[in-house]
Amino acid sequence: MSNRRIVVLGGGESGVGAAVLAKVKGFDLFLSDFGTIAPKYRKMLDDYQICWEDGKHTEELILNADEVIKSPGIPPTAPIIKKIVEKGIPVISEIEFAGRYTDAKMICITGSNGKTTTTLLTYHILSDAGINVGLAGNVGRSLAFQVATEHHDVYVIELSSFQLENMYDFKANVAVMMNITPDHLDRYDYKMQNYVKAKFRIINNMTANDAFIYWQDDPVINAQLEKITTEAHLYPFAEHCHKDSAAYVDDERELIFNTPEISMKMPRADLALSGLHNLFNSMAAGLSACLLDVNKDNIRKSLSDFAGVEHRLEYVETVNGVKYINDSKATNVNSCWYALESMPKTKTTVLILGGKDKGNDYSEILPLVNERVKAIVAMGKDNAKIVDFFKEVVPVTDTHSLADAIDACKAAAEEGDTVLLSPCCASFDLFKSYEDRGDQFKAVVRNLK
Ligand code: ADP
Repeated sequence: MSNRRIVVLGGGESGVGAAVLAKVKGFDLFLSDFGTIAPKYRKMLDDYQICWEDGKHTEELILNADEVIKSPGIPPTAPIIKKIVEKGIPVISEIEFAGRYTDAKMICITGSNGKTTTTLLTYHILSDAGINVGLAGNVGRSLAFQVATEHHDVYVIELSSFQLENMYDFKANVAVMMNITPDHLDRYDYKMQNYVKAKFRIINNMTANDAFIYWQDDPVINAQLEKITTEAHLYPFAEHCHKDSAAYVDDERELIFNTPEISMKMPRADLALSGLHNLFNSMAAGLSACLLDVNKDNIRKSLSDFAGVEHRLEYVETVNGVKYINDSKATNVNSCWYALESMPKTKTTVLILGGKDKGNDYSEILPLVNERVKAIVAMGKDNAKIVDFFKEVVPVTDTHSLADAIDACKAAAEEGDTVLLSPCCASFDLFKSYEDRGDQFKAVVRNLK
């Protein structure tokens, strides 16, 4: 038992999980949220007899903390955080806190795109192989709550750059870095290097017994690796074999895993997930499984029977010979690039774009649009930027509702074509979230039958 005082800021999944763990470990504890705490989390706090407040931050109850656990959604510039830092009170993340109370192996996955898919695929391989594994971080329940209430030998954890801030002594046994492209720069003083540094916190404290899995062709990752030193054993993956590639494709067809632990191959065509981006996601997940000594047949089987993740290149239905695909999670231009990359190399895709633009530069997808897209349907409150950018390239229809967008797709698509919702934008202008956008899209498409 300890009478050290812990204050948790934020009453969502991460904060409440941290509070439950702190309670179980006997700390003097208080949780404060400036917004409104959801009923589910209020009940959990009450069930565990944790003192909490919402709608305010009472400074007398916060600034007397020995340590503060900050939820990832709270920016370091929030006034209360500034006061805490001025008083010299250490601020840590939920993952840092939870890491102190478990000896489980940690597989931590980060990157600008592909985190959730790789995390769920890794979890699928390990759990199907009979490993006692927990799923935590951005997907699933908080790590802290699981550490407080159950036992796992391994955790697969999805870590955003926000979660990696305020991690100091935590150590991953396996760290996975999918890629780094500009995202969330508003939180990093618009400096890419600050974002890169936050992502690279994932390899802090790693020793020669630990492994760093990363995409070997990413210029940003490579530039950073030249600047730093790490004792971790490196496991780079790439589409085409380079020196030291631990996973690659041979002769266009054969996926090779070549590590000191396991050396194996499988036909690329057997992978459950299609597209180049999903080849990378499959390589990263497969390498993590090799490191945990999962047997080769289990790795092959799980990489080929994974059901996929909702809203990520999710097949919905074929109606009148037209295939409908929901990639609503593609909220930036880079992820739409990968969606188009996995479409046929003929002008047979009708692409739905639009929503809340985060300062997009559409030139990245222009070559693929030229080659593969027969029509664009813009769906958003204000589509001027999309219409202006693409109108000389392909026919663009300007719509402001899902119903009108689907009508336009029906008019543009013929038998054998694909309608792809991969909007490059956030959803908040017409929908509650990307999930809501994808769910509504699927419901309307299924009604077309
Ligand atoms: P994250 O959790 O990092 O947001 P997801 O797995 O949810 O990533 O995928 C989000 C979108 O990014 C998908 O809709 C897909 O189009 C694209 N994507 C998935 N994996 C990758 C990857 N390895 N590289 C680039 N884009 C990807």
